[in-house]
Amino acid sequence: MANDKYAQVRLISKPENMLKTIYTACRTCYSADSPLNIYDCESAQDKEKMLKLIKRVISSGHYSTIEHIQISFAISNISRACSHQLVRHRLMSFSQKSQRYVKEKGQFDYLTPDTIEKNIELKEKFDNFMTKIADFYLELTEAGIPAEDARAVLPNAASTSMVASLNLRELIHLANLRLCSRAQTEIRILVKRMCDELIKEEDWLKDYLVPKCERLGYCDEDKSCGRMPVRV
Ligand SMILES: Cc1cc2nc3c(=O)[nH]c(=O)nc-3n(C[C@H](O)[C@H](O)[C@H](O)COP(=O)(O)OP(=O)(O)OC[C@H]3O[C@@H](n4cnc5c(N)ncnc54)[C@H](O)[C@@H]3O)c2cc1C
Repeated sequence: MANDKYAQVRLISKPENMLKTIYTACRTCYSADSPLNIYDCESAQDKEKMLKLIKRVISSGHYSTIEHIQISFAISNISRACSHQLVRHRLMSFSQKSQRYVKEKGQFDYLTPDTIEKNIELKEKFDNFMTKIADFYLELTEAGIPAEDARAVLPNAASTSMVASLNLRELIHLANLRLCSRAQTEIRILVKRMCDELIKEEDWLKDYLVPKCERLGYCDEDKSCGRMPVRV
């Protein structure tokens, strides 16, 4: 999975006071005190105390408390096939490089899946095919066809970039689904890199940003990778 040719990901935004915000949301549910006082109270200075409560609340499934945390990533060098899978996550927000407004000038960037990359003969054919597509795209745009129509010939492998934002609840959900070995390699690498970026700053999240089997304690997929016992 440590393939550097795939997604480049950087965490570009998250709340500075992430723990304190979640802690205040959790305590507000169970305390007679106001959220303002809770935010300023002594316990809100103690990381271990905050974490203890937060973990208990999350494990009880009170997920609204982690919806207050909005996180943004800058993502580049992913294929349109991968971005299409990512945008299926309806609670995320996206701003993606437009194939209408950004016209390709020559050979467009593209991602070659590992399985093709490893086969020298097929890799050569793959590259030649991409060149043919680029040539035809150019022929179309030079004939006056607008980029928004010429893009019809661009492949799933064409690379794209985006800013993607989501709240912490959705990131955990995304990780649980897309870190599973049933997910396709490219999106698995992308989501792993998104999670790693955040875990670098919020180490406590490493227990949540995991494949779903690690949270469930079993595998609910039809075809299991064998990492966990299957659901009976
Ligand atoms: C391994 C894998 C294989 C897949 N294969 C296919 C495939 O072959 N074909 C295909 O079309 N898709 C496929 N998908 C995509 C999948 O069906 C989901 O569209 C995608 O994973 C988004 O998940 P989600 O709907 O749970 O989450 P999100 O869209 O991120 O939403 C998060 C949660 O919000 C709630 N929610 C959101 N919208 C609604 C709503 N309208 N009504 C009720 N609750 C809602 C749900 O609880 C949902 O789980 C695949 C996904 C994975 C992980």
